[in-house]
Amino acid sequence: MSSEPSLATTRITQRARFAATSVASLMAAAAFLLPAGDASAYVKTGCRYQYENDIDLQESVGNNYDTPVDNAVTDWNQSTNQMHIQKNADGNINLVVTDFTTNEDYWAIVPKTFDCPYAANPNPPHSPYHSNESMAVWLNKRTMDDLASYKQRLIITHEIGHALGLAHMPVGCNQTKAVMQQTETKWQCGWSGNAPWADDVNGVEAVY
Ligand SMILES: [Zn+2]
Repeated sequence: MSSEPSLATTRITQRARFAATSVASLMAAAAFLLPAGDASAYVKTGCRYQYENDIDLQESVGNNYDTPVDNAVTDWNQSTNQMHIQKNADGNINLVVTDFTTNEDYWAIVPKTFDCPYAANPNPPHSPYHSNESMAVWLNKRTMDDLASYKQRLIITHEIGHALGLAHMPVGCNQTKAVMQQTETKWQCGWSGNAPWADDVNGVEAVY
């Protein structure tokens, strides 16, 4: 007899837990159902640099990419006061941009990822988060060499977005205007102004 009240208590506790879980699930689902254009549509990778205002970038690219890399860095620096990317600084290198050739179809890749303990806890206070490790962006000459410079610039802006902690966005001109969309929408949708756009900037500022 003594085990039954105990069992009943356990059942009630489980129901309470189930109800709490259901509320959490509904809230999580609501977060994914935010309408296009919502100010917080960005997606975080769960990774971030330790140093908020000091990303040291080392560039190792051919002439084709020197200008678009410069422009992408300037675009990010002008978009937010929270981040500053310095080219060819003397300190520890946080981000290396290089070009290479592969038969793969992608334009560019971030071939290594942070070991991101922050991914398990993407909300403030960001603890623990990663530090003292560099990210790399590799530009595929086979698919990028023939692109117009402004397209190369948008691709590099996108890749730097990954390095800063942004993941991909839903794709489409009717979706949130973001350089973190993965495809040609970055230049096919007729979006005005230099990327990164408002949602990209909001995302980075939320990460840091
Ligand atoms: Zn990407």
